Amino acid sequence: MDSHGGAPTTLIDAIRYFADDDACLAFVANLRWPDGIKCPRCESAEHSFLATRRLWKCKGCKKQFSVKVGTIFEGSPLGLDKWLPALWMIANCKNGISSYELARALGVTQKTAWFMLHRIRLAMQTETFGKIGGEVKVDETFIGGRARFMHKNKRREKIKGTGPMGKAAVIGLLARHGEDGHSTVRAKVVPNTRKKTLGPEVRQYVEAGAEVFTDALKSYSDLSADFVHQVIDHAECYAEGRIHTNEIENFWSLLKRAIKGTYVSVEPFHLFRYLDEQTFRFNTRKMSDGVRFIRTASQIVGKRLTYAALIGGECQTV
Ligand SMILES: [Zn+2]
Repeated sequence: MDSHGGAPTTLIDAIRYFADDDACLAFVANLRWPDGIKCPRCESAEHSFLATRRLWKCKGCKKQFSVKVGTIFEGSPLGLDKWLPALWMIANCKNGISSYELARALGVTQKTAWFMLHRIRLAMQTETFGKIGGEVKVDETFIGGRARFMHKNKRREKIKGTGPMGKAAVIGLLARHGEDGHSTVRAKVVPNTRKKTLGPEVRQYVEAGAEVFTDALKSYSDLSADFVHQVIDHAECYAEGRIHTNEIENFWSLLKRAIKGTYVSVEPFHLFRYLDEQTFRFNTRKMSDGVRFIRTASQIVGKRLTYAALIGGECQTV
């Protein structure tokens, strides 16, 4: 890729490129230390490279460090030749990739692939800077709900509150940016779709005075106190002039296709991670695969997900 010195532009390029350990090391080192390699512990720029072990020895704190320290790869025995193609696949597969598919593609166990995918989803998590303004479309949907297949006790524990039986409620906020009208979405799991839940969410993420478009759900009925509230009545008009309801509908349908088609069943406990994944791909949908991959890879630093934190006593999803 032009701006990144011959970085791969297709999956097959990526697999070939990252088959070389030195290419992997240089790629990740350049991304995380664009201004020169620094010790992740003491920030010292004085170090020597131990070529045989692909480690640096810091002259400041005298400790050794690898390119993985302080990234989502920290503590993983797997090589970057597996991590980077995995990152390519989840960044660029429109419907996501299941741990079973990834396990077969990389020759690792399903459990390892599942853990890798969740670590990469952490890198895909969108950093939220401030509130969104302008024209904002707010919508809600329900995900999951396989009550029929659940054990009786589990069903009793899951099915409570409002909303369709056993489904998780998700709020989505879609905002338009710039002249070209490129839109980005934020999505979040919420306990229910009552007014006292949705109202504060909108107020938390949207600037006061912004133009907020919602459907006719009663939970939104008091938004006009803080926003220019426009109600789109689905029964009358599906796509209202300036804000196209079908953009957020498109996001929901991509999300549901990934969750139902690829991941099959997602524990509510982990649902936010799948929202991060789909939101990231949606918000970068105008990028080429190569650029989207670089964007994902540039977000690996300062994030760590341990297996214990990930499972937190819950069962696995695919
Ligand atoms: Zn150091």
